[in-house]
Amino acid sequence: MPRVYVFPSPEIPSVQIAGTAKRFAVRRIFCVGRNYGQHVREMGGDPKSDPPIFFTKPADALVATGETIPFPIGTSNLHHEIELVVALGKPLCQADLMQASKAVFGLAAGIDLTRRDLQHAAKSNGLPWDSAKAFDQSAPIGAIQPISELPDPLSGQISLTVNGESRQNGDLSQMIWSIPQLLSQLSQLFKLEPGDLVFTGTPDGVGPLHAGDHVVGQIEGVGEVNFRLN
Ligand code: MN
Repeated sequence: MPRVYVFPSPEIPSVQIAGTAKRFAVRRIFCVGRNYGQHVREMGGDPKSDPPIFFTKPADALVATGETIPFPIGTSNLHHEIELVVALGKPLCQADLMQASKAVFGLAAGIDLTRRDLQHAAKSNGLPWDSAKAFDQSAPIGAIQPISELPDPLSGQISLTVNGESRQNGDLSQMIWSIPQLLSQLSQLFKLEPGDLVFTGTPDGVGPLHAGDHVVGQIEGVGEVNFRLN
C-alpha cells in the first residue's frame, strides 16, 4: 500500500550530468577538511601531522550552478572554498584503493561555503561544525562530468575568482590524500552508496564573500560552478 504523508514529500536533491538529460540523485554529502598543504597552513594546522577530517552537509544544501542566492543568515564572515567533488556510482564498505577508484561515477566542481566565524568559535570550544558548514544553500555545484576511469595521477588547475579577481589557484596534484585514499578511509566509517557526493577539500586562498559578489570556480578537465550573492 502506498504511504500517505501528512506533508508533501520533498523533492530528491539532484545534480545535472554533462552530456545527458538524466540527473544524478543525491543521497548524502560528505566533505573532507585539510587536504591541501598550503590551506592546512593558512588555517593554522600542520599538513604532516593532521589526518583528513570528514564532515557532512545535508543533500538539500546543494545549489545548481548559475543561481543567485541570498547572503546566508547567521554569519558575518562567509568564506568560499573551491573543491573537486567526487560522485559515487557504486557502493563501498571497508573498500581497498582499487575498489574505491572503480566506484567513481564522475567529477564536478563545487564550493564548500563556510561560516568561518562560527567555525572558529566551534574549533576553539571543541564543538561540532554543523552550524559552520551544513547550512542552507551551502553547496553550489556544477554539472557532473562522467568518467570511465579515474586519472592517475590526478592533476589540473583548480581555481576561483570573485568579481573577476583571482582568489584561489591551485592544482589537483597538490591534494594530500588521493581520491581512492579518501574514499577508502571514508568507507571504513560509513557504508557509501551510489548517489553519495564527496567534497575533497580546498586549496589555499580562502576568503570572505559579500552581498553582490559573483563567484566563479573552475577545475581543468572537470567543469565550472558559479553563483551570485544578493
Ligand atoms: Mn572545505
